[in-house]
Amino acid sequence: MQTVDVAGDTPAALLGHYVGGAPLPGAGPYLPVTNPATGRQVRQVACATRGEVADAVAAAAEAWPAWRATTPLKRGRILARFRELVERDAQRIVAAITEEHGKTLDDARGELARGLEVVEYAAGAPELLKGEHAREVGTAIDSWSEFQPLGVVAGITPFNFPAMVPMWMFPMALACGNCFVLKPSEKDPSPALMLAALLTEAGLPRGVFNVVNGDRVAVDALLEDPRVEAVSFVGSTPVAEHVYRHGSAAGKRVQALGGAKNHAVVMPDADLDNTAAALMGAAFGSCGERCMAISVVVCVGDEVADALVRRLSARIAELRVGPGQAEGIDMGPLITAEHRDRVRGYVDLGVREGAQLVVDGRAATIPGGEGGFFLGACLFDRVTSAMRIYREEIFGPVLCVVRVDTPAEALALVNDHEYGNGAAVFTRDGGTARWFADQARAGMIGVNVALPVPVACHSFGGWKRSMFGPLAAYGPDSVRFYTRRKTLTQRWPGEVVERARFAFPGSATAQD
Ligand code: NAD
Repeated sequence: MQTVDVAGDTPAALLGHYVGGAPLPGAGPYLPVTNPATGRQVRQVACATRGEVADAVAAAAEAWPAWRATTPLKRGRILARFRELVERDAQRIVAAITEEHGKTLDDARGELARGLEVVEYAAGAPELLKGEHAREVGTAIDSWSEFQPLGVVAGITPFNFPAMVPMWMFPMALACGNCFVLKPSEKDPSPALMLAALLTEAGLPRGVFNVVNGDRVAVDALLEDPRVEAVSFVGSTPVAEHVYRHGSAAGKRVQALGGAKNHAVVMPDADLDNTAAALMGAAFGSCGERCMAISVVVCVGDEVADALVRRLSARIAELRVGPGQAEGIDMGPLITAEHRDRVRGYVDLGVREGAQLVVDGRAATIPGGEGGFFLGACLFDRVTSAMRIYREEIFGPVLCVVRVDTPAEALALVNDHEYGNGAAVFTRDGGTARWFADQARAGMIGVNVALPVPVACHSFGGWKRSMFGPLAAYGPDSVRFYTRRKTLTQRWPGEVVERARFAFPGSATAQD
């Protein structure tokens, strides 16, 4: 008999699934879960078979009629209770995030806090679902739209935010009256299992929220299961596109958020000290493994570029790199040895492509980081748009500076790039900021804000190949994504018997 440790805090733990309100051992096979700061395996996670995925979907489908009938007020109260329980257990969850992902404890706390903002928003379910009403659309006729849940919906999430990205999805889906099957990243699966147990403790009925762990087998099983009405995906662009195409072809509603290459444009009038500080966090926080990370800085004019590169180089020299568990660390390791080698390969490539490597993090030695997947911060100057290090998502601590002569050239770079998740402009001029925000082809714009991640009452989504599907994550878009509009038109006949009408009822003549 396998042991399943939902808390996942013993090294030998085998992590299974969470189905029907309880942990469920996996049939296997198992994948190693590694602490990226040490390179050591800390637990193993089951890969769900198609049959196990089908069982989880069945549990969700069985729970749905009762959950659909539960009032939005009660659903909201369960989410509010869940929020309190996550706060209570925050230290344990944060420790698991850091252990399996590698990010610093502070960063993990921030991730959890941003996820909880979505829970708070979702707890207002009665307000979110109250619908739209129009009186007297014709004489004595009222009309309204209400928003009904879809049924069973699935979420597939990436490694880089193992608590927050699932919380972009399930709180809103549950608030709207759906049942949920989550497939978290196999690289850091513990936080999702912890959240599942807390939802049950908060009073969520069995089967309303389920977790299946695993890899592409589980993903494809969810995409092909006819009982799954909608799929939310966050991850890399090739997989996002695969999920979008296959899910849509199977008749499902799909939102698929993909990769990014976010530009920060620095105008000649920018406050360079504040800009450099903001860019350091946005480029190297979480070791650059954020879809909103700034990976390209476009400097308008050589003077700005020289001054900014000087400032960034000085700050990188002070960056404290080490195990995320240790206090006072700014940047932890990358997620796996393979990914570290891939990112390092991009740095080698940039040198071959002719970019100027101003700060080389490849040889950085990390005290206490032996065996971990560390890479020091790297800064390239004189990168051009023809280079692969500019065009491709690296997803690591590599910042590329591109030099242009005019604001129009900077904007053209932002707009011509295949990705359009976020973009930022640094300037003291309101007109320039307004022009950039209006013209930039990206979904989330920062003005003197390097990481413009929308708060929970807005929605998160990119443009171009950073997002597939019309509706973004959380916020108002997700209420529309997780519900189906139904529009009612109502009239109660009076005592007079109406004559039959054969013309199409237009508003000018309606029931006059
Ligand atoms: P990934 O695409 O490798 O994995 C995401 C999910 O898809 C995981 O659950 C994984 O198990 C599954 N998966 C992986 N390969 C698959 C395949 N071939 N078929 C079906 N499923 C598959 O992404 P990742 O490495 O975990 O995360 C990093 C990527 O996610 C980056 O590209 C980053 O930009 C992106 N990301 C985007 C956003 C956003 O909001 N746009 C947010 C976070 C991360």
